[in-house]
Amino acid sequence: MFENLTDKIERAFKVLKGHGQITEINVAETLKEVRRALLDADVNFKTAKEFTQSVKEKALGRNVLTSISPGQLLTKICHEELVELMGGAEAELQFQGSPGIILMSGLQGSGKTTFSGKLANFLKNKKGKKPLLVACDVYRPAAIDQLHVLGDQLGIEVFSNKEEKNPVKIAEAAIQHAKSNSFNVVIVDTAGRLAVDAEMMDEIEAIKKALNPTETLFVVDSMTGQDAVNTAKAFNDRIDFDGVVLTKLDGDTRGGAALSIKAVVDKPIKFVGTGEKMDALDVFYPQRMADRILGMGDVVSLVERAQEQFDEEQARKLQKKIQKNQFDFNDFLGQLQQIKKMGNVKDLLGMVPGMGKALKNVDIEDDAFKHIEAIIHSMTPAERSNPALLNGSRKKRIATGSGTSIQEVNKLIKQFDDTRKMMKVMGNKQEMMKMMKQMK
Ligand code: GDP
Repeated sequence: MFENLTDKIERAFKVLKGHGQITEINVAETLKEVRRALLDADVNFKTAKEFTQSVKEKALGRNVLTSISPGQLLTKICHEELVELMGGAEAELQFQGSPGIILMSGLQGSGKTTFSGKLANFLKNKKGKKPLLVACDVYRPAAIDQLHVLGDQLGIEVFSNKEEKNPVKIAEAAIQHAKSNSFNVVIVDTAGRLAVDAEMMDEIEAIKKALNPTETLFVVDSMTGQDAVNTAKAFNDRIDFDGVVLTKLDGDTRGGAALSIKAVVDKPIKFVGTGEKMDALDVFYPQRMADRILGMGDVVSLVERAQEQFDEEQARKLQKKIQKNQFDFNDFLGQLQQIKKMGNVKDLLGMVPGMGKALKNVDIEDDAFKHIEAIIHSMTPAERSNPALLNGSRKKRIATGSGTSIQEVNKLIKQFDDTRKMMKVMGNKQEMMKMMKQMK
């Protein structure tokens, strides 16, 4: 759904590749691209500007660890800001009450009726509730029929009254009906118009006042781009809703609405609709949405773990040793231990974008380093710091001592030599992970 935005942001980050440091100039360049990508995705201008400004301030204020590239760090900051922009933590739906009352608002065609059905289904199946659907569109008999069709399909009762022309009366009667028939959530679908008009606003305001709902949701079609934000603002000014439902995120949407709405009306997105079917409903998680927008596997956690585990000072010393070609088995062991501290190897590799899928059916031992460690531990200090000493009889002794074979010892020595060569040209964590994979 966010492919376009993701591609563009990824391209923006590429500008930073090869730069060793975050500077005012390369950050500005990258963020200019990020801002352009956001605007192209229909993110509101003010929001895009504030977003990039805030990322810039944070990026310049933060130390770059040698183990993390500036691109990775900037991605992480962008991610944090995106999550913030979309409301931080997940916002829960309030549906408790006797009965809990959920009121839908929004324009015609936004997906209110479809979402009412999806939500009723969700509350019934996932939350163990007994929901009642209420059809309050007094202008379009077809809308009432549509809700009945959905209700039949889902096995959920629908309350309606085609004779009654006052939606407040219908809703009040529905609540009475719910009370006497032990429904514990009432979902009220209301009429919309093709555009915001005074009559519709008066009506929804009157319904809200009369019902005092537990939760008022504003449903909006994400494909309407900037209009989605304007409509949200008009509804919020009038009825002060509690949360937003973004529908049609499965379509060819540019997704900007998801990023701007929270910033503009300061109300959280609670659900997203991702298809016409009744189960195409997702709870909205800002964190996951940010992951998707940045197309990031789970780079964020990877960077976080690396930040926790990598010792700056040690990394610098190691870098020097590598440059002087003094990298030995003690350093090799140290590196292994650092990587191990970051967690299970398969998990770690799975966090590298694109790698998760590739590894799905690959069996990687949890303790892939056990033999390697045993071999290094069986070496004398002199052998560890001077691998050139390792002749045939020493190798034999090491194999016996570590409970491995000469072949394994030889393999490790070869890997070590290769690694030493490779490390001269790299020295960063990502490359290290690749190397670990080859060692398997
Ligand atoms: P209402 O007028 O606000 O009640 O809107 P409807 O619920 O009738 O939805 C309008 C159209 O959008 C219908 O054809 C729905 O099937 C479709 N629709 C609703 N939600 C989604 C969604 O999340 N994804 C897609 N692709 N279509 C949706």
